[in-house]
Amino acid sequence: MPAYAIIGGQWGDEGKGKVVDYLARDMHIVARYSGGNNAGHTVMNEKGQFAFHLVPSGIFWPQVTCVIGNGVVVDPDVLLNEIEGLQKVGVDVHRLQVSDRAHLIMPYHILLDRLEEEARGHRAIGTTGKGVGPAYEDKAGRRGIRLGDLLDLEALLPRLKAILDYKNRIITGVYGGRPFTLEEVYERCRGWAERLRPFIAPVEITVRQALAQGQRILLEGAQGSLLDLDHGTYPYVTSSYPTVGGACIGLGLPPSAVQGVLGVFKAYTTRVGGGPLPTELTDATGDAIRERAWEYGTTTGRPRRCGWFDAVAARYSVMVNGVNMAVLTRLDVLDGFHPVRICTAYRLNGKVVEHFPSSAALLAKCTPVYEDLPGWDRPTAGLTRWDDLPPQAQRYAKRLEELLGCPLALISTGPHRHETIEIRRIN
Ligand code: GDP
Repeated sequence: MPAYAIIGGQWGDEGKGKVVDYLARDMHIVARYSGGNNAGHTVMNEKGQFAFHLVPSGIFWPQVTCVIGNGVVVDPDVLLNEIEGLQKVGVDVHRLQVSDRAHLIMPYHILLDRLEEEARGHRAIGTTGKGVGPAYEDKAGRRGIRLGDLLDLEALLPRLKAILDYKNRIITGVYGGRPFTLEEVYERCRGWAERLRPFIAPVEITVRQALAQGQRILLEGAQGSLLDLDHGTYPYVTSSYPTVGGACIGLGLPPSAVQGVLGVFKAYTTRVGGGPLPTELTDATGDAIRERAWEYGTTTGRPRRCGWFDAVAARYSVMVNGVNMAVLTRLDVLDGFHPVRICTAYRLNGKVVEHFPSSAALLAKCTPVYEDLPGWDRPTAGLTRWDDLPPQAQRYAKRLEELLGCPLALISTGPHRHETIEIRRIN
């Protein structure tokens, strides 16, 4: 009854969508377990290029059931849009289920996200403004509305009224914004209920049955471990749990079912939004990586901050997730850079440290200690065999493997499914 977790090992955007799409060929279920439509996963195949924000990246494999777990917060309009987009290109969406326990992102969450971020001024977190954080706040505050609530609108109405009264007091009183009427919000709930009803299900049962039948489940992480609410660079984090523990809670999955934890790492580092990034390159090299790799957010279009590979941060991710296999993506982006640099430790207050600090304030004071390796000129883009990699690229990958302390299973050399070097089979 094996489940395999695909976890972002850095600050997100590691290329998990491609990896999930590649591995899903051997899976029965692909499940999202955390985050919302602040995540954006890109899949390229013969049907086109797709940026998914909610639908799991395994949807293109006909044998795969795609599950959105209770740990995800769902903007119904975004989900319906993605479903329609898939139907247009002839993908069968009957294999999609969304948990009746998953919380809704309501229109007031989106408005409050923007108003709160504006009020933070220069301390802005750099949220994507999609209402994800406020929806998780209401979940923890027991003011949330779940997809299952859409199945009984009569029971929902008095609760919705009480919640909306409270939200409107904040919107008008604190921020001077425009209140929502109960009628407009209720009408939207009615519309969502009608269209989403066929997809709403107790997905923990689907997962349990799959496990009982010995089927294979791929857990699709969103964002990265360093954005985890508890284990990331707080407060510059997301409001959910991208780490592997989040998969158990966000899906109703027993930890004993998780057989493999695959950490996905880009061959360099990026971060979008605020917060410290020790290896950030604010020079021409950073610009060259950004332009070569087109490092602009899938969800927001914002330029990503770019830097060299940070092995201190990556090792920390390996530790908090128990990563036992690594996936290296976007190696091709480093073609032609001389030298290639790896941050192996930090200098903090005059001392060399090898551990990732627990506070963003301390991390901001860290400067990288670099190890330089020779670069390579022969392109790696599109290669599918280890032996075809230039020796310097092999050496770079081997050194990362050593620093991470776990074996490399895959190297991705391009955005397409086939542009992959399989070093070990996932089993
Ligand atoms: P995710 O959120 O981790 O799924 O990452 P994104 O989808 O936001 O970003 C990854 C981007 O990199 C997408 O545009 C992918 O098509 C692309 N990508 C994935 N793997 C590779 C790779 O090995 N090389 C290159 N050049 N692009 C890749």
